[in-house]
Amino acid sequence: MDSSSLSSVIVIGAGVSGISAAKVLAENGIEDLVILEASDRIGGRICKEMFGGVSVELGAGWIVGVGGKESNPVWELAAQLGLRTCFSDYSNARYNIYDRSGKIFPSGIAADSYKKAVDSAIQKLRDQEANGFDDNSNRTELPLTPKTPIELAIDFILHDFEMAEVEPISTFVDFGEREFLVADERGYEYLLYKMVEDFLFTSEGKILDNRLKLNKVVRELQHSRNGVTVRTEDGCVYEANYVILSASIGVLQSDLISFRPPLPRWKTKAIEKCDVMVYTKIFLKFPYKFWPCGPEKEFFIYAHERRGYYTFWQHMENTYPGSNILVVTLTNGESKRVETQSNEETLKEAMCVLRDMFGPDIPNATGILVPRWWNNRFQRGSYSNYPIISNNQVLNDIKAPVGRIFFTGEHTSERFNGYVHGGYLAGIDTTKALLEEIRKDERKNDSQNQNFLLEPLLALTGSLNLTQTDAVSGLHKCDVPTQLYLSSKLGIPEAIL
Ligand SMILES: Cc1cc2nc3c(=O)[nH]c(=O)nc-3n(C[C@H](O)[C@H](O)[C@H](O)COP(=O)(O)OP(=O)(O)OC[C@H]3O[C@@H](n4cnc5c(N)ncnc54)[C@H](O)[C@@H]3O)c2cc1C
Repeated sequence: MDSSSLSSVIVIGAGVSGISAAKVLAENGIEDLVILEASDRIGGRICKEMFGGVSVELGAGWIVGVGGKESNPVWELAAQLGLRTCFSDYSNARYNIYDRSGKIFPSGIAADSYKKAVDSAIQKLRDQEANGFDDNSNRTELPLTPKTPIELAIDFILHDFEMAEVEPISTFVDFGEREFLVADERGYEYLLYKMVEDFLFTSEGKILDNRLKLNKVVRELQHSRNGVTVRTEDGCVYEANYVILSASIGVLQSDLISFRPPLPRWKTKAIEKCDVMVYTKIFLKFPYKFWPCGPEKEFFIYAHERRGYYTFWQHMENTYPGSNILVVTLTNGESKRVETQSNEETLKEAMCVLRDMFGPDIPNATGILVPRWWNNRFQRGSYSNYPIISNNQVLNDIKAPVGRIFFTGEHTSERFNGYVHGGYLAGIDTTKALLEEIRKDERKNDSQNQNFLLEPLLALTGSLNLTQTDAVSGLHKCDVPTQLYLSSKLGIPEAIL
């Protein structure tokens, strides 16, 4: 059993928020920290895998928010490290909408359907704003309910991708509207390895610092006014003055981590209110490409009568030419459904869809990769999704510390929840708040120590004919004779005086 000594801070989770939190702690002189990570790697939802001969990103793929008035810190890091990225232009996807017979909808029809859907979504937002949006109100029905395959496909693109957030989208406002796909053999996670090098001991790209503990699944946090005891699944116990908890909102909603005493009602209520988005990128490898690859063809859409059924496609020729890989993105219900079935079944479904679009003669895929974010008990989903019009109070409550437990993660970022830069900045913010608390605590302890020393002094001020001010100022600036005098009178060691 690993019964480590008391640390100042334990950081739970080594995703981008946990790593950025730990880095800020170390930069502020808190070196006796421990990072407990449930899985066998750092990165969390930033995760690459070799597939079909190239490195693909199972989790975060894009650096979102580039080219604006402020610089996105994640983009800055990527630029410093020379991470290879490719610009993504989604705007043409709406002109590459296939029906089930493989015909592309004429651009006029597509544009018209798109405009109607946008107008309808905006109208819905206005209605909600006008009516207020409280816990008990039902979400207003869309003025135009999508019915046809093309309407359903556009609705899916708008609501599960483009307008899934409250307008105006803070990321775009602050950092710009451009998005770059990471296409680097070292993976998006390379940013995290570089961050870690600044404060953990590493050699030849490997983290050798025993303050990072992998395969440590935290199951219980016992907290009191004096500190936090952390118990892991393998029976280890760690103690710290404070904990920073970066587990995802999905994990907080699950029963993986229990709290003793339990979290207060306002906290659990807020955690329950935040939606979890499941977003699944399925990768398919082919012996050769059979899809159009010219300009503005990177993204294409399949219109089916079932909303979200293998709707959103991307080829990887721009990022990895010659890789012959397609990616299809599913969300929520479809993601969960696919997670429960075998990859062979999923492959069969995806091939039927591709044959609808490109004809019966296309080759079978030779490989498939299906990430399972929903069934991963260390994730339970892909990212937080606050209701379109939600009260800021929910986020504030999710973020607020409970005693000595501080919460971080993308879901605690007020402006950028859901994104890598949200996680990164949340880690910094949470640590700043914790450092402030530690300083407050230190000031409180100092004054308690002073009072502890003062109490016997004050009791004697009468008998020694000293005023309270004399006694206090004596403590701060005693000359040697006074020190000896007080020391002998009060039994306080000279060293303290
Ligand atoms: C499929 C997908 C696509 C995405 N696409 C993008 C994108 O293109 N651009 C973008 O900016 N963002 C994207 N995101 C979101 C982005 O990945 C996240 O917002 C960000 O990585 C979250 O970082 P985090 O540190 O908050 O959480 P995490 O990365 O989840 O880190 C939390 C860590 O805590 C660990 N943990 C959980 N429970 C315990 C426990 N009990 N004990 C110990 N450790 C525990 C987990 O293993 C994990 O490592 C995507 C996410 C997914 C899943």
